[in-house]
Amino acid sequence: MLKSIYEKIKKFNTIVIARHIGVDPDALGSQFALKRSIEKTFPGKKIYAVGTKSSKYNYFPKLDKYDNKSTDTLLVVLDTPDKKRIDISSLETYSEICKIDHHPFIEKFGESEYIDTSASSASELVLELILKNSMYIDEEVAKYIFLGIVSDTNRFLFNTTDKTFKTMYELVKNYHLNIEELYSNLYMRPLSEVKFQGYIAQNMKVTENKLGYVIITNEIMTDYGVDSSSAGNMINNFNNIEEVIVWVTISEDIKNHLIKFNIRSRGPTINTTAEKYSGGGHKFASGARVPSMKEAKMLLDDLDIVCKEYLEKESK
Ligand code: AMP
Repeated sequence: MLKSIYEKIKKFNTIVIARHIGVDPDALGSQFALKRSIEKTFPGKKIYAVGTKSSKYNYFPKLDKYDNKSTDTLLVVLDTPDKKRIDISSLETYSEICKIDHHPFIEKFGESEYIDTSASSASELVLELILKNSMYIDEEVAKYIFLGIVSDTNRFLFNTTDKTFKTMYELVKNYHLNIEELYSNLYMRPLSEVKFQGYIAQNMKVTENKLGYVIITNEIMTDYGVDSSSAGNMINNFNNIEEVIVWVTISEDIKNHLIKFNIRSRGPTINTTAEKYSGGGHKFASGARVPSMKEAKMLLDDLDIVCKEYLEKESK
C-alpha cells in the first residue's frame, strides 16, 4: 500500500496534506516531514500542509492556505481514522485521497489507505513511506519525525517497541539531532500551566472503581490563564497513580458549546466506550466531545462500569 501511495504522490503535481482536528505534535510532525520530503524529492510540485494553527506549537513551520483552485489535487490525510475528524473544509474537491494512520480503523474514505495500529505514531509511518521509497530525508525531516514519535509515545511510555527505539537510534545517529533542544520545544511550559496541574491534582475525584476524573469549568481555565487544549494536554501528566486505572479530564469548551473528554487508561479498553459518544482514539488513549453535562455524566458512568468490569475480571 505504501508503494501505491508513493505512486500517487509521484503522479499529482498539487498535493494537500491534512490531519485531525485538535492538532498535536504527531499530526504536525508527520505533515511537515512529508511536505518537506515530497518538495525535495519532486521539486516543482505544490505541496500544502493545511489545518487550524495553534500558537502552542510555534516550533513547527506555519501551515499553508490552500484555495481549492486546482482541479487535479491529491489529498493525503495523516493520523486520522474518520472523515469527521479531518481538519479540512470539504473532501469533495479532491481527485484522489490517501490515508496514513495508526488509529484503529473506523471508516474508509481514501482510495489508498495504509493503517498500522502497531506503529507508535503517524510520524513513524511517514518515515516508513519515505525510507521504503528512497524519498528525500535530511535533519529537518528527521527532526519533525522525532518530535512526532516522542510526543505520541509520551516519551516512550506507550506504543513503544524495539522498532520504535531502532527508528529513534537511526534518526539520532544519522541526522545529529539536538535532543535537548527538541525536548525543550515539546515540554517547556509556563508557570500558569504548572499551577493548573496542581489544581487538577487537588481536585481529582476517584471512584471506588478507580476512575479518576476532574471537571474543569471555563471559569477555572480563565482563573489559571489556560485554554481548553492546554487543559486536555494535562492528561498525560497523571500516569501511574496507584489508586487510578482510568483517568479523565472533562473541560468546558464554551466557544464550541462542547464538553471535551481526554481519557487515558492503564488497563481497561476505553476507545470503544468513547466511540459510543462519537469519540474514539486508541485502546488506552481516547477522547470525545459531548454536547452537554448530561451526556458527560453518562460517559463518565460508562467509564466507571468499564473500570468495575476490568477490576472484577482481574480479581478472578
Ligand atoms: P487526546 O486526549 O486529545 O490526546 O486524544 C487521544 C486520542 O483520542 C487521539 O488518538 C485522538 O485522535 C483521539 N480523540 C480525541 N478526541 C477525539 C474525538 N472527539 N473523536 C475521536 N477521537 C478522538
